[in-house]
Amino acid sequence: MGNDWKSRIRQNLEHREDIWLDTLHNTVFSRQSNPYHVMFKLAGCSYEDLVQLVRQGGIEDTLKKLRFAGVYLDHDEFKGFKPIVRSGKAIAATTESFANPIITGWFHGSSGGSRSAGTMTCTGTEQLMHLTAYAALNAEEFSLGGFPYVIARPTLPSIAGLLFCLLYSRIGCAVGPWFAFGGRLSNSLHYRILTAYIVALARWHGSRAPFPRHLPPNDFSPVARWIARQPKQMHRCALQAVASTGVRIASAALAEGLDISGTLFFSGGEALTDAKRRAIEAAGAEVFPAYWISEIGQIGHSCRQMNTGNRVHLFRDTVAVITDPREAPFSNSKVNSLLFTTLLPHAPYIFINVEMQDAGLLDEKRCDCVYQKVGFTQQISGIYSYGKLTGHGMTLVGTDIVHILEQSLPARFGGSPGDYQLVEQEGTNQTEILLRISPRIRIKSPETVQRYLLNSFRQYNGGALAYRVWQHSDALRVVFEEPLLTKAGKVLPLYLSKSAKDPDSVP
Ligand SMILES: [Zn+2]
Repeated sequence: MGNDWKSRIRQNLEHREDIWLDTLHNTVFSRQSNPYHVMFKLAGCSYEDLVQLVRQGGIEDTLKKLRFAGVYLDHDEFKGFKPIVRSGKAIAATTESFANPIITGWFHGSSGGSRSAGTMTCTGTEQLMHLTAYAALNAEEFSLGGFPYVIARPTLPSIAGLLFCLLYSRIGCAVGPWFAFGGRLSNSLHYRILTAYIVALARWHGSRAPFPRHLPPNDFSPVARWIARQPKQMHRCALQAVASTGVRIASAALAEGLDISGTLFFSGGEALTDAKRRAIEAAGAEVFPAYWISEIGQIGHSCRQMNTGNRVHLFRDTVAVITDPREAPFSNSKVNSLLFTTLLPHAPYIFINVEMQDAGLLDEKRCDCVYQKVGFTQQISGIYSYGKLTGHGMTLVGTDIVHILEQSLPARFGGSPGDYQLVEQEGTNQTEILLRISPRIRIKSPETVQRYLLNSFRQYNGGALAYRVWQHSDALRVVFEEPLLTKAGKVLPLYLSKSAKDPDSVP
């Protein structure tokens, strides 16, 4: 297994510069209405200039110069929350203006969150082949051939569960069971039917993708029980789940005295914090993070040797990443923001220096693994998300939440901005979303506020999914305590626990 997949990746790396230049020629420079086209023009950079810059200094060096010259998108510009203005000129654009105009896709999914029209990702056949190549690398690095590949992910509208079923079946792994969750039968029936239909279709075409088994509400113990029943060998099975779900499964095993030691947890969708890692390792399992951005695809994975912190090999054939130090929104902390640029012609979106409110550190470290050998020498460590809630792999943007906290809640229950605060923190066995309400506000039942808040989230694209997943996991709690203050004495509506820090990489 794997040589064809590897040569595909090696070729992309070898011709990385030419591929990117071609992609930009076809998607940006030949299209006058493309917003980047206008940015390049205002920056005084022609296609020929770009070619020269890349030949002289490489892609990353060119991207740093472009960032300085105004060719970039900050997060709110990409999401359409604020206008794009460069050199005093407004550039008309919506999120869809950045969708790749030259791909044909068939696999659409909603990203975990965000307002506006939501970010619909379109995964073309080429993109799927590419993701399959990464799955094959992963299977080789972790020798996934000999034991079950279990999935604990929601059904549609989240595409992740389905995608892992298809990718890992395709490369010959023993995929299944798929433990699905995401709402009660009454509010998710249509998605359950659609998911089952797609699995049936895939099976008809020869895939061995499993049908989902639905978990009872707020109960992950059936997964732990299933794993504990597998024969005890070095690895019982691999488990694909976001970090919070992984923690719930590990905690369920500990609580019931089930032996799930030797399980390989693969986490993605939210930062693997030290607390989450410890909780999973307490059950005798190992955990390895992946790095995905729904608008791009998979952009990194950890290897066998990365058993601390939140570190991955960066998939440099798919993306180029530079860092941009800035102040995080809704806080007063400095972060090392990551800017992403897509390189391949089949990327769902064309990104040039796009900020996705993720922070981390870039470095090159010697490593002896499958990823290193194929050419992924660059690594990102200490990855975490700022400016948005990402609990349980769901994403809600700060601006949406701030609107609810500062306007909707005071209007409905009384009080004013500063009386309500949403805190994302590491709970005892999962990431908790805590709504702190000043005790000065007289509210009889916390349940009423909780219900109101969950329903408010539903109005936003991605919020509906967060609603189902958070309800399933019982992850949202209401407490009557004064909101937390910053060192400067400010009340920030959104208070994010400082997450994943990679101890060996923080200067
Ligand atoms: Zn490695």
